[in-house]
Amino acid sequence: MITFDALIIREKHIGERNRIITVLAKDHGVIDIFCRGGMKLTSKNFSATQLFSYSTLCVEVKVNAKGERLYYLNSSQTKNLFYNIRLDLINACLASYISELLCYCGTAEKDFGEILRLTLNTYYSLDTNRQPPELLKSIFEIRLLCEIGFRPNLLGCNKCLKYEADHMHFNIMTGKILCDNCCEDSDNGFDFVFDKGMFYILRYIMLTDYDRLFSFKVSDKAQKLLTAFSESFVSYHIKPKFDTRDFYRQMAH
Ligand SMILES: [Zn+2]
Repeated sequence: MITFDALIIREKHIGERNRIITVLAKDHGVIDIFCRGGMKLTSKNFSATQLFSYSTLCVEVKVNAKGERLYYLNSSQTKNLFYNIRLDLINACLASYISELLCYCGTAEKDFGEILRLTLNTYYSLDTNRQPPELLKSIFEIRLLCEIGFRPNLLGCNKCLKYEADHMHFNIMTGKILCDNCCEDSDNGFDFVFDKGMFYILRYIMLTDYDRLFSFKVSDKAQKLLTAFSESFVSYHIKPKFDTRDFYRQMAH
């Protein structure tokens, strides 16, 4: 039996009594856990295994003939329900999209500590309405891609090494950041141009510690550019189309 804290990112009903939950946990990555209908499904156990809950799970591990690890829930205890996320349709849509992204990017048996912190902080900010959902969505999308290996070299222009310029070009296809002087092909559809202020925000989102990451505001104009950039960044690197994102978009406008 093993015990660990995990965020519930998907739940699926199997027949009338059984469920499979997909969870994100620091040391286990993204794994499926079978919840037997026969087990004492007290209300405490049930809320701890609901979508968006962060809970302590006690799990039995079995290894099948193929050597795969199978997980069976024994008991659970809620740490944070993120209850308010469920009360607001836009917040719930955004949390669903975040969960879908995690299910797609996650793998088992890998350290997901940083991604778990990012997600918990995003859910906490959504739950307490600390920042607008649109900004939280951009922060999550951009930082998630950084954590899974797409963080660009942000020290400055990747050619002449200039730390800042009036405009910096970020090409999401090549992952290169170039100043105006060094950028030769700025009209290829993958190129996003950031002025000094916006480039500072981009660096902030990509590099700042999680303690301070969720404590800034942006103008409506800046948010429009951030949204266009973060959605293109995700679409380029993560190919499937996410229905939950379209649904969030319909609700948010
Ligand atoms: Zn340059």
